[in-house]
Amino acid sequence: MRTTELGINSRLVHGGYHPDATGAVTVPIYQSSTFAFRNAAHGAALFAGEEEGYIYTRIGNPTIRALEESVAELENGAGGIATSSGLGAVSTLYMGLLECSAHMVSTASVYGPSRGLIEKHFSRFGVEASFVDTSNLDSLLQAIRPDTRLVYVETPSNPAMQVTDIAGAASIAHDHGALLAVDNTFASPYLQQPLKLGADVVLHSVTKFINGHADIVGGIMVAKDDEVLRLLRGVMVDMGCNMDPHQAFLVLRGLKTLGLRVERAQAGAQAIAQWLEAHPKVESVRYIGLSSHPGHDLAKRQMRGFGSMIAFELKGGLEAGRQLMNNVKLATLAVSLGGVETLIEHPASMTHASMSKEARDAAGFADGLVRYSVGIEDADDLIADLEQALETV
Ligand SMILES: *Cc1c(COP(=O)(O)O)cnc(C)c1O
Repeated sequence: MRTTELGINSRLVHGGYHPDATGAVTVPIYQSSTFAFRNAAHGAALFAGEEEGYIYTRIGNPTIRALEESVAELENGAGGIATSSGLGAVSTLYMGLLECSAHMVSTASVYGPSRGLIEKHFSRFGVEASFVDTSNLDSLLQAIRPDTRLVYVETPSNPAMQVTDIAGAASIAHDHGALLAVDNTFASPYLQQPLKLGADVVLHSVTKFINGHADIVGGIMVAKDDEVLRLLRGVMVDMGCNMDPHQAFLVLRGLKTLGLRVERAQAGAQAIAQWLEAHPKVESVRYIGLSSHPGHDLAKRQMRGFGSMIAFELKGGLEAGRQLMNNVKLATLAVSLGGVETLIEHPASMTHASMSKEARDAAGFADGLVRYSVGIEDADDLIADLEQALETV
């Protein structure tokens, strides 16, 4: 069924599904590494791209294809490319769109390893990157050089929760002959569709909201046009960053409830953020659903809702944050985010430990910042949990 005319929750349930001969209601796991050709001419036609079909799972697989089609439809792109992990998508993107001596401009407070990949590895091939606060479009514009090939934006960003104007970033990139890629992991396609706002590529760590159940790692990329899609697919296949069919099956299962999970988690996050903001031991709260957040109005324009990621700092700084993390009982002390269970972590010593203190300061987050990913538990229980933990601080 063509689902492009349907509402987003209908598309989440039905997107990408093509019934097979058995009539299976969910997409089966095609756990096969290779696919038989009808005859030699058929094999040759598949390799030449003259006929649609499957050859070998690194190149394509029906379970993986269903996920790719579903997310591509949600993101309004030409097609999707599922990858082994979110970083598999990021590395495929860099490999496909940068070359020796190319320059990239990136949001300073991106996911730590998205930055580390450039600083530790692509730098060996002469790739340079400027990490700037892209929530300020003037800083983005000033960082552009004649050799800038790619503008890479994460919004909302991790963990500083800065919001970048995607349409504004797209016009700056395009005016200077660069492409815009957006890491849409924190928002998910349910809350934000960057390609509609002018981005050329959107990517996700599906480990987070899209799968939502903390049981696999995976990634996906969607390109707006066919040419970029073909280029990136070729790189993914040649580097072997493919997803596995069983992984794709679990992600398809998680995807169906994305809308329900996101709506519930963000309602909880709004209540928790307001409660935290009023707490005497809390120094500051960054939640884009609060009118005190500098990106609140922009988020209202370019997102359908504010999501469920909160970052906050206690008056007692890092030591107080550590005490809090050691004393929560319902929230789990773990990295990752976007699952049904609430997670708490400390970016400066965990997810962003690879960044220098100067880089963290420049990216706009203090050592005392705690990141809280709200799950779908009862908000009252989460607040009671935070309350008892804050009493120990
Ligand atoms: C987790 C994450 C990634 C990396 O994804 P993996 O699935 O862990 O490889 C990239 N970007 C953001 C914003 C993330 O949260």
